[in-house]
Amino acid sequence: MEDMDVSLLCAARGRLKKERVSIITGDQVEIEEVDSVKGTAVVSARLERKNLLSRPQIANVDQVVIVQAIHQPEWNALWCDRYVVHFQLELPSSKPVLCFNKSDLAEKADIETLRSIYEPLGYSVIFVSAMTGQGMDRVAELLDRKVSVLAGPSGVGKSSLLNFLEPSLHLKVGVMENEFGVGRHTTTYSELYTVGFHNPSLHIGQDGKRHHTWVADTPGFNLSELKHPEPALVFWQFPEIAELAPDCKFANCLHLVEIGCKVLSNLESISADRYDSYVTIVAEAQEGEKLLRETSQKVEASVKVVGGRKDKARHVPKLSGRYRAESRRTQRQSMTEAELEAEIEKEQEMERDLED
Ligand code: GDP
Ligand code: ZN
Repeated sequence: MEDMDVSLLCAARGRLKKERVSIITGDQVEIEEVDSVKGTAVVSARLERKNLLSRPQIANVDQVVIVQAIHQPEWNALWCDRYVVHFQLELPSSKPVLCFNKSDLAEKADIETLRSIYEPLGYSVIFVSAMTGQGMDRVAELLDRKVSVLAGPSGVGKSSLLNFLEPSLHLKVGVMENEFGVGRHTTTYSELYTVGFHNPSLHIGQDGKRHHTWVADTPGFNLSELKHPEPALVFWQFPEIAELAPDCKFANCLHLVEIGCKVLSNLESISADRYDSYVTIVAEAQEGEKLLRETSQKVEASVKVVGGRKDKARHVPKLSGRYRAESRRTQRQSMTEAELEAEIEKEQEMERDLED
């Protein structure tokens, strides 16, 4: 079919709902009953997904660009590495790109320091300024014809970068939240914007056909929203530790305290900030695992049946308040794709129930 740039308001076929096929941001679908006057259509099928991220909830992602500010807010090594680990787990098929914004506020030495931490580890690192436009041609090149997720804490300039690439978006800029973006309403859904309409080189390929460049902006994360591997597997997320760890003589070593540990005896080859991040992220992974274990014990202890809509009574774990909030988050982290799919469907069903 011809490529067209149209927006249609679509409803999913009832059959899809019955078969629990969820449609989320980034999904490619087949549509029928296109009404070009009303601008509506019906989604009849969802095409196979290439991948599925749980946070942000988005399908068919080509790459993640982690956006960090060098100053204002001050760059934070631990948070940077938390984002890196989270997105390596979310999208193992591609290494996240590190995009340092607000270069206009940085000294040359700041830039060289950041470059020297991440480039030798195999990450692509780009320095930009959404204010002066510096480095933006590289960003445009990087995003060209792909589906990308822009991720980073609030205030680092994600909306400013998107506005630079596509001024017609008019995204709100400078709505700063507190440091961790806590306490605001975060939604699990994100929106994909198509960028580059004003820039034909971004939109029309060498074959003369129109191509789309899609970018999703995502809100910052809370600590509890981050994905963790098992504690003993965290080292795989740190290339410089993964290089040493397989030669460690201790089985299941966390590379934290054992005398004679291969990683500890080569600490001088690892950046101090990076090793600190590793230590913290292992501790967070242990905490997450503990919570998960406690929660599943509680779940076994008490299950209640609640009446949903007709003949739809469900077995729901009875949890004390403390566990209730944490359990969904921690469970989400260890979900398989099928489980995540079911979870998404459940959320959508609950939303529909509320609407009814
Ligand atoms: P977001 O929360 O990540 O979307 O960040 P915003 O795009 O809302 O930007 C937060 C603040 O940083 C705003 O006041 C912007 O004007 C400012 N800002 C964004 N990019 C730059 C930049 O490259 N240099 C400087 N100096 N300020 C920037
Ligand atoms: Zn070790």
